[in-house]
Amino acid sequence: MRNKHRMCILMFSFSVLFPVCVDADDRKIEKAVKKYTTSTIELRHQIHQYPELGNREFKTAELVANHLKSLGIEVQTGVAHTGVIGILKGDKPGPVVAVRADMDALPVTEDTDLPFKSTVRTTYLGNDVGVMHACGHDIHTSVQLGVASVLSSIRKEIHGTVKFIFQPAEEGPPPGEEGGADLMVRENTMENPRPVAVFGLHALASMEAGNIGYTSGPAFAAVDHFIAKVKGKQAHGARPEESIDPVVMASEVVTAFQTIRSRSLNPREPSVVTVGIIRGGQRFNIIPSEVHLEGTVRTYSEEARDGVENRMNQILKGITSAYGGSYELDYDRGTPATINDPKLTAQVVPSLQRAIGRENVMEVPPTMGGEDFSFFANVVPGFYYRLGMVKPGTVSGGHHTPTFRADDSCIPIGMKAMSTLIIDFMKSGGLQ
Ligand SMILES: [Zn+2]
Ligand SMILES: [Zn+2]
Repeated sequence: MRNKHRMCILMFSFSVLFPVCVDADDRKIEKAVKKYTTSTIELRHQIHQYPELGNREFKTAELVANHLKSLGIEVQTGVAHTGVIGILKGDKPGPVVAVRADMDALPVTEDTDLPFKSTVRTTYLGNDVGVMHACGHDIHTSVQLGVASVLSSIRKEIHGTVKFIFQPAEEGPPPGEEGGADLMVRENTMENPRPVAVFGLHALASMEAGNIGYTSGPAFAAVDHFIAKVKGKQAHGARPEESIDPVVMASEVVTAFQTIRSRSLNPREPSVVTVGIIRGGQRFNIIPSEVHLEGTVRTYSEEARDGVENRMNQILKGITSAYGGSYELDYDRGTPATINDPKLTAQVVPSLQRAIGRENVMEVPPTMGGEDFSFFANVVPGFYYRLGMVKPGTVSGGHHTPTFRADDSCIPIGMKAMSTLIIDFMKSGGLQ
């Protein structure tokens, strides 16, 4: 009876007090976002103007570490080359939650009229290239620095610990180097303390600022890379009967690869098999001995991944043996698929809706693009959403193009959405 009575009081207090508490926190977040918007936009301009390639984010990491330190956040640097981790302990007990932003730029020469446009050049794979934040990672990094400002200003209200992860080399490390989320996880980023969930966002070049998109379940595909060698026998171009022609065999292989998606896999199972490189031969009148095929495979399930690799082997074996040739296939399984935990998604989407308006939060379809956030989300449940970034009424170039153009107005939206999501999630005690 006593316990029941106490429950009633608790429930009554909850129903009366909880909405008041939520409003109070929302107001504090709103006020803090306003206070830190200008300084966060300035950080974005600096990061955008001085972009750095994967595993070379030295200045960016320094800017990040200095900002976190200025907020009284415990900082660890040099993780997976240039990664930075910040630990913000709230005054109240609660779960550990991780939030991740990527810091690297791309070898693209910027072609925008932004006043803080990048003119940086560097050497990449022996070539002189422009460097640009052409995927919006400057937005991710600055929004997360803004979230750190907001949350540290209300740390008295925080139930638990926030782990800020600033990751290098999301686009992939330079050839011959390790890096990115995979290396961060191997260097124990998800331990000591281990979070109960991980969150992140990515700017979306087809969505206006003010909106957020999300996908429950599969959101970004697994990214695999293959190299196939089709081997034959060299001969004079006028004596094909003396050859085993790898050009003919490779042509049939490329065509047959297209049947993997259309005829071998379940039609409801998304997949892509792309041959991006086909190279062979030196002269018009020589049948070469070998043709090089190289490409990418995108899938969402291990079953589809196995299915594609098996069929590639069967096709290569069948075609080359029919002509008396041979083959080698090097199939490299790269970034796994990013699967947004459906329970976690259902739990946190209402926070996004409350933060920026229900009508501005929409479901978006999964993409066959990849995202190495999956390495974190394979350790603990994860939720990765899309932040609209285009100035209303204008158009941005696509991701990884010189005219990619994210508008500053998405920064306070991202700060408010992520801060609200984190505060709500921690207050609820974690994954329900
Ligand atoms: Zn990208
Ligand atoms: Zn990206």
